[in-house]
Amino acid sequence: MEIKEVRKGDNVLLRDHNRALLINLLRSRGPLSRAELSRLTGLAPSALSRLSAALIAEGLVRELGKAPATSGRPPILLGLNPDHASSIGVKIEAARVLAARVDLLGRVRSEVSVPFRDPDHREVIAASEEAVQRVFQGKILGIGIAVSGFVDSVAGKCLFSPILDWRGVELARPLKSRFGVPVHVENDVNAFTLAEARYGVGRGLSDFVCVTVGEGLGAGIVIGGKLHRGAFGGAGEFGHTLFDPRGPGCRCGERGCLEVFASDQFLRREASALGFSLAELSARARRGDAEALKAFRKLGENLGYGLKDLVNLLNPQAIVIGGERTTADGDLFIPHAERILREHSFAGAAERVRVMRAELGEEGFLIGAAEVFVERFFAVPVG
Ligand SMILES: [Zn+2]
Repeated sequence: MEIKEVRKGDNVLLRDHNRALLINLLRSRGPLSRAELSRLTGLAPSALSRLSAALIAEGLVRELGKAPATSGRPPILLGLNPDHASSIGVKIEAARVLAARVDLLGRVRSEVSVPFRDPDHREVIAASEEAVQRVFQGKILGIGIAVSGFVDSVAGKCLFSPILDWRGVELARPLKSRFGVPVHVENDVNAFTLAEARYGVGRGLSDFVCVTVGEGLGAGIVIGGKLHRGAFGGAGEFGHTLFDPRGPGCRCGERGCLEVFASDQFLRREASALGFSLAELSARARRGDAEALKAFRKLGENLGYGLKDLVNLLNPQAIVIGGERTTADGDLFIPHAERILREHSFAGAAERVRVMRAELGEEGFLIGAAEVFVERFFAVPVG
């Protein structure tokens, strides 16, 4: 490829651009032969050959043997080495920290869990450091931390977490100084949504909302193929939109939030009014007990009214529902949520919007927390 009178900076940009193009092709469509890569990138065979030799020397690309030959000499296939570099995903829960090393293809390579007794932030940060230390191996691009609550991703802080009883806790700084790699803090549901978008049910969707139903109610919003974080990472607090201004107090300090009516908190209130536990409510509903089924139906309907607002506001292609309560009892409330959504949102959007179950389990939080560094690694530089 001959480019005349090119400045040095442009040359570097062009080289980085071609490099990104090639590794992205190997990531999404690999393994591929040099001839196929040359055709797909538009690079001359000699330039492609130089570039692939450099990537092989670097260890990011490897030769994977020969393709079946149709005629003549079989071409050698090139593939990405997914273990060339990894990222670490961390999830802070109410009583333990999970950490996983995630490879360049978004797969968990090792995972640990470190419990803590008290959600005092010093103890949790110490548990996080221990968990990260145990999976820290090879070249690490960065550490992504998923935490429930209102997060400032820019400042690397958890501004407010009712589950942990935290206000303004610095998370990025201590881990960055301990491990010497970039650290990114993300709301846990946003991290989960990112994983669903790249590796789960959201593949091929450009606009969807991922809703998690469990102890709390959360949402992650994908617009135009990108996670919508808002101004600094706080977008998606679906659980704290208003459902009933005269409703019970919410752990966020407000009154009548949707979360109070469409999470385990609601089911626990219903169960205790009937004189038993949430686990028993679920077991009774499974046996066909009318009162228990009614509690799940009400949860579904309340959720449906919330989903209606999301659909009318954002016109998504799909609503993806996940979270612990969905894994356990989704069939007991999702059909009711879907019915309300279709009855009450604008007809065009409601008929077309798909309601889907999330594909990823608990690992989704860890993969999504690490994903921000995988995305940076594969980003195509622009001038
Ligand atoms: Zn609230």
